[in-house]
Amino acid sequence: MPAICVQHLRKAYGDLHAVDDVTFDVERGEVFALLGPNGAGKTTCIEIFEGFLRRDGGDVTVLGVDPGQRHEQRWLRTRIGVVLQELAVESFFTVRQVLERNAGFYPAPRPVDEVIELVGLREKADDKIKKLSGGQQRRLDVGLGIIGNPELLFLDEPTTGLDPAARRTTWELIRTLSSEGTTVLLSSHYMDEVEALAQRVAVLARGQIVASGSPTSLGGRDQGQVTVRFQLPHDVAVTDLPIAPSHVDGANIEFNTDDEVVVLNRLTHWALEHNFALAGLSVTRETLEDVYLALTHQSADPSEEALHE
Ligand code: ATP
Repeated sequence: MPAICVQHLRKAYGDLHAVDDVTFDVERGEVFALLGPNGAGKTTCIEIFEGFLRRDGGDVTVLGVDPGQRHEQRWLRTRIGVVLQELAVESFFTVRQVLERNAGFYPAPRPVDEVIELVGLREKADDKIKKLSGGQQRRLDVGLGIIGNPELLFLDEPTTGLDPAARRTTWELIRTLSSEGTTVLLSSHYMDEVEALAQRVAVLARGQIVASGSPTSLGGRDQGQVTVRFQLPHDVAVTDLPIAPSHVDGANIEFNTDDEVVVLNRLTHWALEHNFALAGLSVTRETLEDVYLALTHQSADPSEEALHE
């Protein structure tokens, strides 16, 4: 049985359909990412799965039980870990005190020192929470999420506000948990994070799932065009190239193709034959972010975004 099973989930706030007929499964042991722009309905979904929010319709099972049933919630909360978007602990405690206190809520918690080590707070273990930096507080959030040794971990934007090194530490931690068999439901706005961690993703837009699949195949990404770029060698004319490029900008040459193997073969064969270097040679597909923005009809250009409103 999947860790999370969602069928035709609905939740409205007044006239606003925050979650509108959402169906998906999260398999046990996988890292599953829920993507979507601000207000798409991710947190609403996650709070329903955690048993913190009542749904209006549809079926949900989390670790085999209905999180909407009050009598299941106590059991469920000992099996799940939650990292919310904001820290919700008393700031006059030290890191160690709050972890020790929360460890007492669970039947089989992880050792406190192990958690302090895993989230990289050893040097801050006896500091008061109010003295931690924003990024250190976020690491403590993750520590509080895993102190109960959960089967299923909900991570709502776990690396927002972290510096690049701390983000990587958190990624390593998520990989470690995943390799131990923990199921992770991740919400994130960072596509590199999703690509690095998630086996599957679902994209929410305006309360509905608009695409799902692996990060490499989302929205047909693995079948889209490939761009091959390099710089034209000195003393070589564009007309000397063995195939006509799609774009030329000074010495910058670009080929857009469905068949990168043939294009690369002809170009590299030609370059080797004439002893030319193909400076800056790169082969790129559409990024996950390109696909995501197209799926959610967002644009980097605010004037274009306004056209979709
Ligand atoms: P973000 O990426 O900004 O965290 P999200 O995808 O998590 O966004 P939700 O927080 O689930 O989005 O919100 C979905 C929609 O429901 C938004 O339009 C939001 O304004 C609305 N909403 C959320 N909570 C409430 C509430 N308690 N009362 C009324 N509207 C709400």
